[in-house]
Amino acid sequence: MNRVRCLVLNAALGPLDYKVPDGMEVGPGHVVECPLGPRTIIGIVWEAERLPGTEVPAEKLRPIRGILPVPPLSAPLRRLIEWTADYYVASLAGVARMALSSGGALKGPATITEYRLTGGMPERLTPQRLAAMEALEGEQATIRELAGIAGVSEGVLRGLVNQGVLEPVEVDCDRPYDEARPDFTQVELSPEQSEAADTLSKAVRDAKFAPFLLDGVTGSGKTETYFEPVAEALRMGRQVLVLLPEIALTENFLHRFEERFGVAPVLWHSSLKSTERRRAWRNVASGEAQVVVGARSALFLPFRKLGFIVVDEAHETSFKQEDGVRYNARDVAVMRAHFEGIPVVLASATPALESLQMAESGVYAKLDLPSRFGGAELPSIDLVDLTQEKPPHGMWLAQRLVDGIAERLERGEQSLLFLNRRGYAPLTLCRNCGFRFQCPNCSAWLVEHRFTRRLACHHCGHETPSPDRCPECGEPDCLVACGPGVERIADEVAERLPDARVFVATSDTLNSPGRAAEFIAQVEGGAIDVIVGTQLVTKGFHFPELTLVGVVDADLGLEGGDLRAGERTYQQVAQVAGRAGRGEKPGEVLIQTRHPEASVIAALAAGDRDAFYSVETEMRREAGAPPFGRWASIIISSEDEAEAREAARRIGDTRPQVDDLMILGPAPAPMALLRGRYRYRLLMNARRSVQLQDVIRRWLGSLDHPPGVRVGVDIDPYSFV
Ligand code: ADP
Ligand code: ZN
Repeated sequence: MNRVRCLVLNAALGPLDYKVPDGMEVGPGHVVECPLGPRTIIGIVWEAERLPGTEVPAEKLRPIRGILPVPPLSAPLRRLIEWTADYYVASLAGVARMALSSGGALKGPATITEYRLTGGMPERLTPQRLAAMEALEGEQATIRELAGIAGVSEGVLRGLVNQGVLEPVEVDCDRPYDEARPDFTQVELSPEQSEAADTLSKAVRDAKFAPFLLDGVTGSGKTETYFEPVAEALRMGRQVLVLLPEIALTENFLHRFEERFGVAPVLWHSSLKSTERRRAWRNVASGEAQVVVGARSALFLPFRKLGFIVVDEAHETSFKQEDGVRYNARDVAVMRAHFEGIPVVLASATPALESLQMAESGVYAKLDLPSRFGGAELPSIDLVDLTQEKPPHGMWLAQRLVDGIAERLERGEQSLLFLNRRGYAPLTLCRNCGFRFQCPNCSAWLVEHRFTRRLACHHCGHETPSPDRCPECGEPDCLVACGPGVERIADEVAERLPDARVFVATSDTLNSPGRAAEFIAQVEGGAIDVIVGTQLVTKGFHFPELTLVGVVDADLGLEGGDLRAGERTYQQVAQVAGRAGRGEKPGEVLIQTRHPEASVIAALAAGDRDAFYSVETEMRREAGAPPFGRWASIIISSEDEAEAREAARRIGDTRPQVDDLMILGPAPAPMALLRGRYRYRLLMNARRSVQLQDVIRRWLGSLDHPPGVRVGVDIDPYSFV
């Protein structure tokens, strides 16, 4: 029967059947072009028995237009797409689109023209031309890229092409990458590290599904440890995927990778240029790309012979995607390993409770690295009770913390102050009339940024110049900043310790790999004394001269109190504490708090992780929260508040009655307005036995809403705003 079922990339359509033209050979996984009305749409040929069919009779079927020149998506990847759509109650088309994530790659092989110096001289050697030629020595790139490198206009370079100084070279867009060498450097592992590495390497050789939790304290050498099984996979000619939570971390990681394997890994993240994307995608698909280091979207790349997956800093909440298909990359990574039949390791110093629970129940094998590499001690941790040791008026740092920084300054060591708040102050108000600056698109205050002299919304990106008078009452000089952000802390350090060289490290200042690299070099070179940073600096960095970490406000994360607040605070503070004393000099951590009695804070001070986890576990058990029960939320939004409210009410009114399932809401979301959309939420809490996804699909599937209404489902939600 020359009829095939296709999953087409349009979420509004179900699978469609097509006729296979004579002489065309297609099978499951082939990426094809299909007619749809007057248009052409991309589809993936699927096993017909796995997708609901259509009733269109054979003679009415339209033929497939053609097969795109890419390898067919593998069966394990097809199973992963099905599983992800099913588990997260998302459309198959939406998930499939994440796998076909480079439009260029689907078009097949291509070349581009690059240029390089010939060694010839121009007829007239102007200073500008000379400077350009010097800058381009050894470079080969497109005219536009070369213009950027040389800092001249493209016109100048075209002139040089005409004179034979630059020559064109045709380059394969998808040329392979330099080869990583598994034995480029020999690393001597500690006995603990060896044991873990050997177990993982053996699992790579066995090539069977095997999930691991690599639970190692900060500085224990988790990276060196999992590099060994990475090398083993390379020796076997298999591909490796390393998922990292943030781009800022990759610079440091790339450097270490290169030292170990002789070349940089293949990168995959959302800000790649389209040429880089297609090259990476096609090399992954051909099996040529050996190690891919990427953000969560790398999970859906079409690996040909994947042999090992690493999820580093696996507890990080940024693995959770919060829009589109709301999936958790940590969990999907385990499923990919399952379908591929390969090992996967989740590495963390502060594993998520869910992951620990999986290890305790024997689903994940646990590998422990209980001590720091090279005998470095874990830092000593002390609390600063802010109700007793009050900072001076209008300031935020207790004297003991400032004294600690001063001591480090004298000794030529470094300090890190952690506060998870970008900008200068989280709220600006008028002293005269009480006016507060609020985002017009969100239920949020505008955050003052003094560096850029702007007020910004951290939710939608809305920005406005900082005014010098109140827009409400017109008074000049009446605006006051309330509360601290990192910029304000940096000002305070500069004021109290004028000699200190302070650097504010946030996503505002480390917003490109180049800047991140520069920052690392400056810290390593001793050009910075005090880093004031957000969660961006809590992980990955290894600065031997950094011996003091101050947590400016440990209570911040506990405010608002969703059920994961305690865990998140514990992880964040433990991670940032882990930056202290990683070299030979011992580290010290001072945690400022108003609640030294809170169980999280007490556990941090006592360095008693087990105590914290057992209190937290009990609390979750009692609340029926994950991993003991399940949560899901439904988010209804519209630009029209009445429309959103009405849709939420209808969903609420048709709620199903199911045993062991509690449905709360609808209620206006805490962020009742976000990016111009009014939002309502329902929260579901179920026993593990409930088929939650089926219930949701049946419930929501029976309702229609006006086109302006969006209904999102969030399974295992992390965000409750
Ligand atoms: P973690 O990720 O567990 O916090 P890292 O992998 O960053 O720890 O290791 C901490 C430091 O110790 C790094 O500078 C790393 O290069 C070094 N290190 C760890 N293990 C070894 C080893 N076996 N040989 C040499 N250096 C090591
Ligand atoms: Zn906003």
